[in-house]
Amino acid sequence: MKRLLILGGTGDAVKLASQAMSLPGLEVITTLAGRTREPKAVAGAVRIGGFGGEAGLVEYLQTENIDLLIDATHPFAAQISGNAAGAATKVGIPRLMLIRPGWERLPSDNWIEVESIEGAVTAIPATAERIFLTIGRQQLAPFALLTDRWCLIRSIDPPDSSIPLPPGKLLLDRGPFSLEQECQLLRDYQIQAIVSKNSGGDATYAKIIAARELGLPVIMVQRSIVPDGDRVRDVLGAMKWLEERVTIIW
Ligand code: NAP
Repeated sequence: MKRLLILGGTGDAVKLASQAMSLPGLEVITTLAGRTREPKAVAGAVRIGGFGGEAGLVEYLQTENIDLLIDATHPFAAQISGNAAGAATKVGIPRLMLIRPGWERLPSDNWIEVESIEGAVTAIPATAERIFLTIGRQQLAPFALLTDRWCLIRSIDPPDSSIPLPPGKLLLDRGPFSLEQECQLLRDYQIQAIVSKNSGGDATYAKIIAARELGLPVIMVQRSIVPDGDRVRDVLGAMKWLEERVTIIW
């Protein structure tokens, strides 16, 4: 048996684990950071929790005799991707990044593109009093500066109680969301601007279309630079990479 480690935390990682399980002679282990209270079911073995930085991941790869590593984490999970790149090089195993493409701005989009969450806070137009924050729950603290605005915060799990938040409302929900749902939400809460990460993928794209249709500005946080190395954009590409490596291994 050869052993594949998938660094998960995305829908693509879930799909990949399920498909990789069909390859004969391959054992599949997915690891999750443990941020989501009720993560989606994953095929194969699942390990939850951090490794303890790059050194911890090196030790895990060695002690668990991992042969192949696929980094299928979220495009904004930069720390673990950097650790994976360093650890795979040190251990000398093949590593692939599965990164879905970012959303592309259309001529009718009103995007304000920023490099960071902090940049998003200052880029919110002064005229926008009611903001929709769809950036997850971990990087909300900088928005606490917006004491004169009202923010609708949507996340899967509630933010940690120690995190300061701006005035507004918390909505616990998990995508995918339909265009109709998103348009209704934006109208119901009289939203005037949206803050989003450029996550890419279909599951949360409806809010971007809804903003386009309603003529709302989107403060779009751009991705950071990803490590060098083999890269594919979808599960199909990852399966091809895997099949080639599995064939070489045998
Ligand atoms: P991060 O900043 O890149 O990682 C922080 C630390 O969390 C890592 O150094 C690692 O701890 C641990 N970690 C992250 N992903 C892991 C995994 N798959 N398995 C085991 N440990 C992991 O990541 P993040 O932005 O906090 O995201 C955490 C997880 O949520 C990721 O798996 C990502 O795919 C998922 N996610 C993130 C976003 C987002 O917007 N950032 C959105 C949706 C889902 P150690 O250093 O101790 O190993």
